[in-house]
Amino acid sequence: MRWLIEIELILFMPNILDGKKLAQEIELTLKQTIESGLEVARRPPGLAVIRVGNDPASGVYVNYKEKACDRIGVKSFAKHLKEDISLAELREIIKSLNLEKNVDGILLQLPLPSHLDEDSLLRSIDPDKDADGLHPLNLGRLIKGEKGPRSCTPAGVMALLERNKIQIEGKRAVVVGRSILVGKPMALMLEAANATVTIAHSKTEDLASLTREADLIVVAAGKPHLIGANHLKANSVVVDVGIHRLPSDTAVTSGTKRFKLCGDVKTSEIEDKVAAYSPVPGGVGPMTVTMLLANTVDRWQKHCGLPLTISHLLP
Ligand code: NAP
Repeated sequence: MRWLIEIELILFMPNILDGKKLAQEIELTLKQTIESGLEVARRPPGLAVIRVGNDPASGVYVNYKEKACDRIGVKSFAKHLKEDISLAELREIIKSLNLEKNVDGILLQLPLPSHLDEDSLLRSIDPDKDADGLHPLNLGRLIKGEKGPRSCTPAGVMALLERNKIQIEGKRAVVVGRSILVGKPMALMLEAANATVTIAHSKTEDLASLTREADLIVVAAGKPHLIGANHLKANSVVVDVGIHRLPSDTAVTSGTKRFKLCGDVKTSEIEDKVAAYSPVPGGVGPMTVTMLLANTVDRWQKHCGLPLTISHLLP
């Protein structure tokens, strides 16, 4: 009888969409791609991450990105700028990076201090070096289904779904959140993969009845534990983009502060109900960094006249 229970448990185990493991696999491919192209290119790929001010979360993300560059052989041209930098000064820095031939990708770490106009600065990045895929031209390319740098987080979600053989075509998907950074490009990528997509947002009435209809739910609302068991039908797939640091007495220690990481989904409520879900941490976060590297290596191949061998990684 016990073996029967064990088999049942195995059969009902949800598939954990392990972003950490997949990110390592893709990083290896990118590292090998760089090594094999170096002789012809005569320089490594270059990525400039621009951080303005001292937002602690941005500091952590920029640190991850720099370490990831080191791991695979991308040269980092990181810039950490003072909080009160003027719009004109920042534009000049972006202009010089646009002209710097050793830089293939530029990323402006968001959010920016409130006196800086995010839209105009994103627009001033050369679309050909747009490592975060947020330039209007590249968002337009996404709408038209043309190749180009892709928004890193949704691109990471697509890779996570595809590599785990989650069927997207023909399925009903709900994306919770409509930001330019995540929700909107996510919906476009799922639609391009032939899902039938609905976007929900803060004004959506009766979110739970909408998400209960979905085969696939991507949650990027920035609200801790927004989605629970009553939001889902059985055997759906849930991707949690949200990431939050909640105070904790028991969990991870960072410097002097103690915190625990959680997402927009109540994992403990849903894990017995779903077919697959992405954990926080270790799900979408590592994939975002890896897709930033993928965009940069793809740009490098283009700028150095190498064959474009990794563009299939960008949805
Ligand atoms: P954002 O710009 O604040 O957008 C949040 C979106 O969620 C908005 O469209 C908002 O609707 C919607 N929303 C808020 N409350 C809602 C509710 N109760 N029901 C339905 N929709 C609701 O945030 P974002 O930049 O897209 O990021 C979302 C989350 O993902 C954050 O936790 C962020 O930290 C995380 N994130 C993680 C990664 C990663 O690598 N893991 C990368 C990027 C972002 P309105 O438009 O109506 O306001």
